[in-house]
Amino acid sequence: MSRVQIHSAPWVVPVSGAVLADAGVVVEEGKILAVDRLDALQTSYPQVEVIPHPHAALTPALINAHIHLELSHLGELGKKPPGPSFTQWIVELLYLRDSLGITGPEIEEASLACAEQQYRSGVSILADIGNTTIGGELQQKTNGQVLAYKEYLGLAGFTLEKNLERLGAEPERQRCSAHAPYSTHPQLIQALKSRAKALGHTFPIHVAEPPAEQEMLAQGRGEMVDFVRSRGFWDGSFIPPGHAGSVRYLYDLGALDEQTLCVHAIHVDPEEIQILAGEGAKVCLCAGSNQFLAVGTAPVDRFLEAGILPALGTDSVASNPELSLWREMSLLAESHPQLDPAAIFAMASLGGAQALGLESQRGTLAPGKIADILSIPIPDSVQDPTQLLRYVVSAGSPLSPTRVVL
Ligand SMILES: [Zn+2]
Repeated sequence: MSRVQIHSAPWVVPVSGAVLADAGVVVEEGKILAVDRLDALQTSYPQVEVIPHPHAALTPALINAHIHLELSHLGELGKKPPGPSFTQWIVELLYLRDSLGITGPEIEEASLACAEQQYRSGVSILADIGNTTIGGELQQKTNGQVLAYKEYLGLAGFTLEKNLERLGAEPERQRCSAHAPYSTHPQLIQALKSRAKALGHTFPIHVAEPPAEQEMLAQGRGEMVDFVRSRGFWDGSFIPPGHAGSVRYLYDLGALDEQTLCVHAIHVDPEEIQILAGEGAKVCLCAGSNQFLAVGTAPVDRFLEAGILPALGTDSVASNPELSLWREMSLLAESHPQLDPAAIFAMASLGGAQALGLESQRGTLAPGKIADILSIPIPDSVQDPTQLLRYVVSAGSPLSPTRVVL
């Protein structure tokens, strides 16, 4: 006979509905059967064992929708002020990566340690973007789940054929992503998107991160063009669309739909937000990385107004001094005090699940979903749901969650 248990706590945060006080989650064989107030559950399940979690809130596990695990050995970059420009930071990243190495046991170890640290902090799913096989190999080694995306880039026409050939030879199970409009040939973006679509994969791409991307698209010049030229990849084959919107550009390429994940999405105008909403495209905010690189702040309130619940991502240690979704939430709470804390917590859970096409299984505490539940210590001074959510999203440092059921 299968084992049914009720996990009870002073607070339950289902995300799919209002916070419940003195409530519980009924779990059977790793699946959620019911979520309700404890007295109601004990009436419906009279013989079932109750496991109490005193001084705690039960929440769904978190989802980090954007990380680069293979850069985990480059933490010194994220600990000092970045260069005067975005492209200078890329130069420093490439230089440090060349000098410390791209693959090897130490880099694998740092990547694994990062993935494990994410898991301990309550993150169960990592959408990992990489240029090596490190992320894919971590899938077997970590407690959490790593969805590894192999990143493609190459703006120059002379790189296109080879990239398309490589892409055509990828096994179907390999998820692939495009780096960014400023670094990836439009035909390569289209090929990556149509392959992802055919295979039912999410298609992540960095979108509208540095302001220089807008200048490049609109005028075909500026800091980014100078950078691409200096690396020998400005060969005249990229024709700027003549307008500044990265989202409009991707829309014109046919690269936006409900399985496209636009990462950063900082410099997007109201019309572009409507395009994203209309196409059902997903957005991932990286507040910590954006703050570190001083590239701007994403219009999170406008996304929410348009019905887009963003996901949250940490990006890598090369652009973020601390990889913690708790800190990402607290940065949003700080910079947007008018935001409903319930919406901020939903971004770290349900938003991530939707972004990665996992919402039927994860992201909320609801019947039928996987019982991947965090128990977060909550001080007794927290008196009501609003205080509770404000406490959780403002804590900043990891709240030492434990997992209730795996
Ligand atoms: Zn990134």
